[in-house]
Amino acid sequence: MTKTPPVCNYEGSDYQTSFWDKGGREYEDRTEAIALKQLLPKTGRLLLELGAGAGRNTPRYLGFDRIVLLDYSRTQLEQAQRRLGTTEKYIYVAADVYRLPFVDGLFDTATMIRVLHHMADAPKALGQVRNTLQPGGTFILEFANKLNLKAILRYLFGRQVWSPFTLEPVEFVKMNFDFHPKAVRAWLQELGFSIEQTLTLSHFRVGLLKRLVPTGILVFFDSLFQWTGRWWQWTPSVFVKARRGKLQGIHGEETSPALHNVTAFFKCPDCRHQPLADRKEYLECLSCKKKWEVKDGIYDFREPM
Ligand SMILES: [Zn+2]
Repeated sequence: MTKTPPVCNYEGSDYQTSFWDKGGREYEDRTEAIALKQLLPKTGRLLLELGAGAGRNTPRYLGFDRIVLLDYSRTQLEQAQRRLGTTEKYIYVAADVYRLPFVDGLFDTATMIRVLHHMADAPKALGQVRNTLQPGGTFILEFANKLNLKAILRYLFGRQVWSPFTLEPVEFVKMNFDFHPKAVRAWLQELGFSIEQTLTLSHFRVGLLKRLVPTGILVFFDSLFQWTGRWWQWTPSVFVKARRGKLQGIHGEETSPALHNVTAFFKCPDCRHQPLADRKEYLECLSCKKKWEVKDGIYDFREPM
């Protein structure tokens, strides 16, 4: 197996309940809904949701024919299954973002929200996402911004040692990274993406405001300011809409399989062989002979059986 960076594992985590449902994050959740509505194509064929977790954002992608929910944690995907059901529309995949198990050019759209935050090697992860997208496909990326107003003020007043102005990521808690907007743009452009839109979110992520002002009012004002992201990005959360270039990074043929043929979506994450053979309880790589488990509606590409 090729060596890949460490992953942040939410296995067995109650993240959905503790952070979103009871953690006073309604404001952040609603501002994300507004940004997604702005950026996401209204309809589409096949969408990849990277770091889908318990499926909090998934109902916002209903205009797509089928949706692949990808997460490293199987228990998060089980929560998503309970929330969304096991209909044809959703395909659940446990996999490592550095070893994505999809054939090149499969998806017309991909989203990655609150995930780059945990990437020790962000350009490597972004490169994997690029390969799974069709030429001309849409990528919606959210990242945590180190150049946010609070970090700038703390730095200027000597309350924080790291500089928000330098381009390298800052790991402020283990496996939690904030990025400089300029660095993220440069990575995307190097990978052949063109950036079409930038929105800034959570202008009012301040504890006192969130306690004193009704959430609906904060959400409304945030939505008024989101579009200023095209000029400056001083908020803790930034959304970017990027499009995969038509020419860059294409290796081999890129024809998307029929939507009902889910087995044809996958390649071996270790040796990249495709197609895999469908043995019901697992998919088998005919090249390296590894077996990838399919159990209770979840395709598991983290470790071979
Ligand atoms: Zn293989």
